Amino acid sequence: MTRAGSSVEAQLLAAALFSAERHRDQRRKGVRETPYINHPIEVAELIVRVGGVHDIEVLVAAVLHDTIEDTETKAEEIERKFGTSVVALVLEVTDPPLTQSERKRLEIEHAPHLSPRAKLIKLADKICNVADTASNPPASWSRSRRHDYIDFAEQIAIGCRGNNAALDAEFVRVMERARAQIG
Ligand code: ZN
Repeated sequence: MTRAGSSVEAQLLAAALFSAERHRDQRRKGVRETPYINHPIEVAELIVRVGGVHDIEVLVAAVLHDTIEDTETKAEEIERKFGTSVVALVLEVTDPPLTQSERKRLEIEHAPHLSPRAKLIKLADKICNVADTASNPPASWSRSRRHDYIDFAEQIAIGCRGNNAALDAEFVRVMERARAQIG
């Protein structure tokens, strides 16, 4: 329970509203420039539908997973609104503000040491991002940059492996399709 007395539906919708508000001026980097909020909703939806996970704290944290990293949101606000377990999960999947190459290296290094619940979010995040590299990549990304991203995401997925068989299989399926599409 993230907030005593409130239903799972209320908690999830409160998280979606909060995240939509925080990401309101952001678009995804892809050519279609979809509203940013589509991404965290997609990540949470994948965890339920494909992963069969109904852990409300994981789903709420999935919806909030980029708020600390990519908006002005403070950990204390999430803790106050959604509880200590949720903020701990969001912080686990928040990357430190370093240079991109350093951040990627650390993300690969940390993946195997994440808690099982954080691994669900991390893996679903990478599934969505890999799908985007094929169907909706940033306009400036070359073919090799797209492949580099998929190779990086594969390292993360390997680090998260063995925690949810359906999501593991989904990653492989989406990765193979993306590589074939990019060619
Ligand atoms: Zn994300």
